[in-house]
Amino acid sequence: MATRYDTSKQALTELLSGEPTFRVNQVWHGLYQDLATPSEMTTLPKALREQLEKDLPSALEVLTSKTADDGETTKWVFKLSGGATVETVLMEYNDRVTACLSSQAGCAMGCTFCATGQSGFTRNLTAGEIVEQFVLAARTALPRRLSNVVFMGMGEPLANFDRLWSAITTLHDDLGLSARRITVSTVGIIPGINRLAEASLPVNLAVSLHAANDQTRTSLVPMNARYPLADLYIACERYLEATGRRISFEWALIDGVNDTMTAARELAEFARPLKAHVNLIPLNPTPGYLVRGSDKQAVRDFTQELLELGVNATVRRTRGVEIDAACGQLAADTVRATLRTSNGPV
Ligand code: SAH
Ligand code: SF4
Repeated sequence: MATRYDTSKQALTELLSGEPTFRVNQVWHGLYQDLATPSEMTTLPKALREQLEKDLPSALEVLTSKTADDGETTKWVFKLSGGATVETVLMEYNDRVTACLSSQAGCAMGCTFCATGQSGFTRNLTAGEIVEQFVLAARTALPRRLSNVVFMGMGEPLANFDRLWSAITTLHDDLGLSARRITVSTVGIIPGINRLAEASLPVNLAVSLHAANDQTRTSLVPMNARYPLADLYIACERYLEATGRRISFEWALIDGVNDTMTAARELAEFARPLKAHVNLIPLNPTPGYLVRGSDKQAVRDFTQELLELGVNATVRRTRGVEIDAACGQLAADTVRATLRTSNGPV
């Protein structure tokens, strides 16, 4: 049975074939305008509401929900059918409310510094599982409007392109989110970047660069061996030509690894001709990677060097560190549990 947000209007019409035809739009409106569960759709007769709770099951079972930053950051762990878990983060700022969504349960890319990468890959999410993360976060954000989406949760979005794109289309067409407020973050899957360049909605692209020489980058991001920097550069250039939209590069500053002045110069050479924006973030600690994030002074020096080299760069504020909701920390609990188990008796 398709889950609530995996059910197309066509399938809903078939499901409601014994009902007056206006019920289809009522239920659709309930799901996508009111963000309501079937039992909350009080315009429907009670028996139908009960039936729809069964026929349109939720895809996400809340395992835990935690808040941090004075209630401005919320993290959920959801259980999916089949038992896989994913995490979603909601971040409220003065000028916007952002949801960080997962596109896969786990991730197969194996980036050494990332908790999700350390925990391995379970499966792709369906479009409805992605959309429902948005809906639940949007309900929590009320009365504020959930205004932005970043695909920086668990998983590599461009390794699940078709379902991702179907979810993005729903966010845009049915949930009224502007494409310019959606950001897809990738480790650098070139065929996916090429598809985004041709896509019909102008979503933003973030590329997780972290190093601008192949040796360091491959040690941090193993996929770099398959899609090396020279090819990635060409893909970014094509994307820029095709869309005219500014790319951002994500760079997690790691003590002594990619926070040197040489690293800054390599990054500047890569980013400046592409007119890219660089987002710097000190590495968040994860159990499987023991090098520390850069200290405050190193972050300042690196940023200053980039600015002097003519690169647009900002330092990201980390949210939700204490509830493991920060970038790259998702699934940290699972990894820790595994490490405890493999270290001997619990
Ligand atoms: N797979 C995609 C999107 C999910 S990861 C990608 O890699 O871009 C979201 C972001 O968190 C990426 O920029 C990733 O490099 C970053 N990240 C992963 N682990 C991190 C860590 N420990 N500290 C800081 N950022 C991290
Ligand atoms: Fe996957 Fe992104 Fe983590 Fe790399 S950084 S392992 S691509 S989630």
